[in-house]
Amino acid sequence: MTVALIEKLEKSFGDMVTIRRYLHMHPEVSFQETKTAKYIQDFYRDLGISFQANVGGNGVVARIKGASPGKTVAIRADFDALPIQDEKEVDYKSTIDGVMHACGHDGHTASLLILARTLNEIKDQLVGEYVFIHQHAEEYAPGGAKPMIDEGCLEGVDVIFGTHLWSLTPLGTIEYKSGPIMAAADRFEITIQGRGGHGANPHQSKDAIVVASQLVVNLQQLVSRRVNPTEAAVLSVGSFVAENAFNIIADSAKLSGTVRTFNPEVRDLMEHELERVIKGTCISADCTYSFSYDRGYPPVINHLAETEFLEKVANEVPGVEKVEESILHMIGEDFGYYMEKVPGTFFFTGAMPQGEVFPHHSPKFDFDERAMLIAAKTLGCAAIKYQTQ
Ligand code: MN
Repeated sequence: MTVALIEKLEKSFGDMVTIRRYLHMHPEVSFQETKTAKYIQDFYRDLGISFQANVGGNGVVARIKGASPGKTVAIRADFDALPIQDEKEVDYKSTIDGVMHACGHDGHTASLLILARTLNEIKDQLVGEYVFIHQHAEEYAPGGAKPMIDEGCLEGVDVIFGTHLWSLTPLGTIEYKSGPIMAAADRFEITIQGRGGHGANPHQSKDAIVVASQLVVNLQQLVSRRVNPTEAAVLSVGSFVAENAFNIIADSAKLSGTVRTFNPEVRDLMEHELERVIKGTCISADCTYSFSYDRGYPPVINHLAETEFLEKVANEVPGVEKVEESILHMIGEDFGYYMEKVPGTFFFTGAMPQGEVFPHHSPKFDFDERAMLIAAKTLGCAAIKYQTQ
């Protein structure tokens, strides 16, 4: 069965590229992907495959039933783009000013659409049910995964697989990892309230810039001195705003940043200790503060049995040359929500382009399109073989 699947997928590679390039030229940012959603709906409608539109927003969920009952396997691909100006010089460059598929979600979508079409062609020989989750808004919290789950996209699902094309990993490589693979991504905001005054008379004021500067430095001790060194955590202050004239002492200053962790206990510790450091720094300077900590996506924690299964399957996929354990990624992914509900695994598909390599979210990001075929083959083989697991 997987032989037929692979042959058909290889013959459809040209279609995959055509779809990917169309989507690449017509990107839409998170929560505004209505035309992309319609493109996906039209694709399924034309093939007579049943689907549900507007699932939890712009999400689309298609389902195919095999000839005999079995397990229900879901595969997820995201389809949103980023607010980035495309700076590549290629004929499939984005036609939308300031919007670009700079993470490869166009490739995920093309890969999943062709995989769905191919499985539909051989459905008379298939066991079980196949669910194709086309998810909107992965790039922007609160994300599309959660509302899609709330509206039933995982109903009856026994297992879920997902992949991310990865431009920094060589083509032909599949990277798996059981347990944590991608981080929880949280956001914090701090406002330091001092007392403004004349730059010539600092003793009559409370300088919010000095206090906020101290705070940025003090916060560096959280990861280095409070977190167990065998655990991973990141705290980055990404914004520091205290606009003023040159001769005025700042009345207030605002900081915002992100915290990335894998272990829920470390996540709790970071939130708790952050406030303690803010409080201490402000008390010593007689300033007040406000602090908010917003929990973003949970970490992506892969399930052991499904990851071992995927590793075994990937090793037998033609075109896959290397199957190795992934590093931990500090970036977030709302695939973590699916992993909280059903067993499954999320893996990386090497997509390093020939020539210069740019990281994801770069204005010159691109990937080797042959990775889409490898992703479709690996996901498709996993879906079929899971039936006899
Ligand atoms: Mn992405």
